[in-house]
Amino acid sequence: MKKLGVDRIISLSAVGSMREEIEPGHIVIPDQFYDLTKHRKSTFFGEGVVAHVGFADPVCHDLFGVLADAGGKSGATVHKGGTYICMEGPQFSTRAESRIYRKWGVDVIGMTNATEAKLAREAEICYATLALSTDYDCWHESEEDVTVEAVIAVLMKNIETAKKIIKEAVAMMPAKRGCRCSEALKNAIMTKAELIPEKTKKDLDLIIGKYIKT
Ligand SMILES: [Zn+2]
Repeated sequence: MKKLGVDRIISLSAVGSMREEIEPGHIVIPDQFYDLTKHRKSTFFGEGVVAHVGFADPVCHDLFGVLADAGGKSGATVHKGGTYICMEGPQFSTRAESRIYRKWGVDVIGMTNATEAKLAREAEICYATLALSTDYDCWHESEEDVTVEAVIAVLMKNIETAKKIIKEAVAMMPAKRGCRCSEALKNAIMTKAELIPEKTKKDLDLIIGKYIKT
């Protein structure tokens, strides 16, 4: 994405709902993530360069606003804001896990977005998610437990809604970015330039080149 010159990413995600009022077919635009992933790389840094980007607000404020407005025009039920818990997967949750996540106060569950948001922020790319609720995970007593077939059936319906919202959002998007995502790395690189290995500087040139010259 960075190589292509992309500066905004709208992620489309199938999620499980962790709240009664977020029904299958509803849209959620999360504004927070809780990362429970364990076995994946979620940073560009580490090989001789340390960077700590701010991540208190992991979603681009401006992109969130555009998606919220576009969602409102789509006719779909849109929940603006919410916490997305990102589990490792690929298995779905156990009933015990699902109940515990609900007690934590999360709104939706998925397997990809926290990692994407972290990498996007480090790459200074705006990031927001259109989360499409497909099921009630397995906590819901009166609903059938989540199966791949059931998820895919709702997912197919959600795709049409997502297409509408994306079309609207792209038309509404201002040409230039006015947010702070484009300078997320400005004061985040801790390692002195002269101490960063040349190979790392080259490998990360696309990300850090504007701050650290090779
Ligand atoms: Zn932004």
